[in-house]
Amino acid sequence: MGSELSAVADAIRANDRFLLVTHENPDGDALGSILAMQLALDTLGKDSVMYLGGDLALPPEYAFLTLDGLSRALPDDVGERVIIALDSATAQRTQLPPEVLSAAPLSIDIDHHHDNTRFGQINLIVPDASSTGEIVRDLLAELGVELTPEIAEAIYIAVDTDTGKFQYTNTTQKAHLLAAELIGHGVIPQAVYRQIYESVPYPRQRLKGRALERAQLYEGGRMIAAYLLRSDFVEFGVGEEYAEGVIDELRAVQGVELAMTVREPPEPPGAPRRISMRSASDALDVSAIARQRGGGGHPRAAGFSSEESVEEIIEFVRSQFADAAARA
Ligand code: 5GP
Ligand code: MN
Repeated sequence: MGSELSAVADAIRANDRFLLVTHENPDGDALGSILAMQLALDTLGKDSVMYLGGDLALPPEYAFLTLDGLSRALPDDVGERVIIALDSATAQRTQLPPEVLSAAPLSIDIDHHHDNTRFGQINLIVPDASSTGEIVRDLLAELGVELTPEIAEAIYIAVDTDTGKFQYTNTTQKAHLLAAELIGHGVIPQAVYRQIYESVPYPRQRLKGRALERAQLYEGGRMIAAYLLRSDFVEFGVGEEYAEGVIDELRAVQGVELAMTVREPPEPPGAPRRISMRSASDALDVSAIARQRGGGGHPRAAGFSSEESVEEIIEFVRSQFADAAARA
């Protein structure tokens, strides 16, 4: 990755105006990475705009981040800005109109998804990285940007959330060393933990309860599925972003190798159902299942959208899981 890293650093040094984008329905890695990148560009005296596609509200646990600059509309001078996409495996995930991407003076794709389509003119793809935030940290080192407490915290949030609080298989020695370095630059892990994991809005726990109540085992307990209906979101008065975290509870069930959720987005009415999948085994690549339905992700965490019924979707995943298990 050395040459790509220096190519990205050179491109940043050589340009002055940037558009930073990440994936719709952003998670902690997406938001942490885009914020760290903007703060770093600020210190370099560069002009950058953060753009977020889609119209979903941000997950409430990230409300404490200073993301006021995150715009849902493209700036008028978008055609003159270098685009930097962060944590987005495909161009579609950024929700940028294709003509905007193709007309950009330069596009840079920075990501850690193994199935990234390399849609940028420069692609810095590091599948071994715990998170996109980890790649951003290496880029800032290459650029000689000092880590302020704010930049350090944004990167820490990216690593902490994408590794499941340093629990998932992407929790490498490098991720821990990076965390240690970030703590040295002012991050207080307990404060981040309180903000992200212990500021849970009550309706979110109720929604989680509803999903867990519905959870069912398949394939002799090796697969678990739960779903949330539009009416559930309406009843608790919350948006789809409140369903985050349900899947982690499902994956934690003893004996489960594949956990899945199906969500009916409350807005806009009639939007396709969203499916999340998690694998608890190296032998099972859920991104391969997602790709069959036009989605993608990582071997152990993937997703797709579907117009099919909840029953049809669960049955599709169940049959794919049974096939994969038979091949293993
Ligand atoms: P989540 O279940 O948390 O929404 O997503 C898990 C992983 O799958 C993330 O890395 C995300 O980027 C990826 N993913 C989720 N939905 C889609 C999708 O529709 N298309 C693609 N390409 N990736 C997805
Ligand atoms: Mn990520």
